[in-house]
Amino acid sequence: MADRAPTVVWFRKDLRLDDNPALQAAIARGAPIVSLFVLDDETAGDWRPGGASRWWLHHSLDALSRCLAERGAPLVLRRGHADQIVPQVVAECGATAVYWNRCYEPFAIERDRRLKASLKDNGIEAQSFNASLLHEPWTVETKSGEPFKVFTPFWKALRERGDPPAPQTVPARLAEGAALPSDRLESWALLPTTPDWAGGLRESWSVGEAAARERLSAFLENGLAGYGDKRNRPDLPFTSRLSPHLAWGEIGPRQIWHWTMEYLRRDRTPGLEDEAWGFLRELGWREFSYHLLYHWPDLPETAWKPAFGAFPWNEDEAAFHAWCQGKTGYPIVDAAMRELYATGWMHNRMRMVTASFLIKDLLIPWQRGEAWFWDTLVDADLANNAASWQWVAGSGADAAPYFRIFNPVRQGETFDPDGTYVRRWVPELAGLSNSFIHRPWEAPDAVLSDAGVELDSGYPWPLVDHKAARDRALAAYKAIGKGAA
Ligand code: FAD
Repeated sequence: MADRAPTVVWFRKDLRLDDNPALQAAIARGAPIVSLFVLDDETAGDWRPGGASRWWLHHSLDALSRCLAERGAPLVLRRGHADQIVPQVVAECGATAVYWNRCYEPFAIERDRRLKASLKDNGIEAQSFNASLLHEPWTVETKSGEPFKVFTPFWKALRERGDPPAPQTVPARLAEGAALPSDRLESWALLPTTPDWAGGLRESWSVGEAAARERLSAFLENGLAGYGDKRNRPDLPFTSRLSPHLAWGEIGPRQIWHWTMEYLRRDRTPGLEDEAWGFLRELGWREFSYHLLYHWPDLPETAWKPAFGAFPWNEDEAAFHAWCQGKTGYPIVDAAMRELYATGWMHNRMRMVTASFLIKDLLIPWQRGEAWFWDTLVDADLANNAASWQWVAGSGADAAPYFRIFNPVRQGETFDPDGTYVRRWVPELAGLSNSFIHRPWEAPDAVLSDAGVELDSGYPWPLVDHKAARDRALAAYKAIGKGAA
């Protein structure tokens, strides 16, 4: 006979009902379900969710609570050390099993191992599942059984695994567990109030599982054809913008994979399959980041290539603040930094351009940029953020070569050819023609005055001369010798 004592389903970065293996397993177990979310800032320490992620989390929990309440298993909210709270909740409701989906942050792995062992010691069944990745990081390895350090063979190995398991949907009604006291979501103060800086986030995003599904459908209909060509254009809507939904698990990569395949079966437009593989390959980069974080847990803090420990950084606070505020004097960099602050998101190419500018033009340690992105991105993700910052710095696995230093003017002219993106986010330059929109300091005085642009009092002069900064960066990379290569 089935054990009627409740199962606790501990939600974490899997804030969805469909394609949720822990929830599916609890349903299959047949006992009443107690749904739990714990805000565990203590275990995460410096990597607790930043401001923009907290905003997202509030709305995502709100959406999840509604869905669970409709199905009869309301979400219980608690705050504190999860390894203390989960056993408390188990005791309160008399549960005999706890199920959750895995997280891969090093601090989460350590806590979860401890917790699983102690629950088992106390006779409680504890099981974890994969909801966040196509394949578990420890199951993808080189022929000699080592972790991958290079993306292309990693992606090849991942594709050879075939389709990941198909996602499952959740029934309309769940077996309700005991009613437990819950914190009020508002009492967690995840939303900013004084000041309320979240206006741009509210305008830019719909949060929650249903919104994630809608975003994927809209992308498949309107963005997939053209993704390969246009995904590098920050002025055009050709990427999926699924990243914050993925970061909080409102949608999983397996759902994205299968729905993309399903879409291809319906739409047989020539060339679409290549576009789809181009898109899924980006999910491959996400998997690669998780693979790196799993095998090198210091990735968020320490350069993967040890030689970078001796890099001659230049800790310039004023320059760092100018970068954060979008006041570097390079329009494409400033547009991107302002987009980030206003909406909590930045286009991938712009992330590479702004990161390159911080690291290579300003010689500011990549960890400072990583921390700023952590606080301001709604899609802040420890694996993707750390791996990407190290990729740009040249200090990571399979990283950009150190001598690849983005020229911010050329990047602007190539990827924002009509200046639309700059005009949107740096309105004080809107009156400039395309010839000068990415290099206002070269415009003759008469052109500036016709466009209503005042350098210095309005828009800043460039913080550094790119050519001189490039030479300085190359000299710095040379100083750490072969280890930079
Ligand atoms: P799409 O092009 O639609 O791609 C689909 C999905 O694939 C994305 O949602 C994302 O999950 C994944 N993906 C796409 N590009 C990459 C990539 N280069 N590396 C890893 N995964 C990728 N991504 C985050 O999710 N969180 C971060 O904190 C983060 N920080 C970054 C920091 C820097 C310096 C750089 C250069 C990149 C960072 N990225 C991060 C990766 C990438 O920029 C974003 O995932 C992407 O811009 C999200 O937009 P999208 O959903 O429209 O992407």
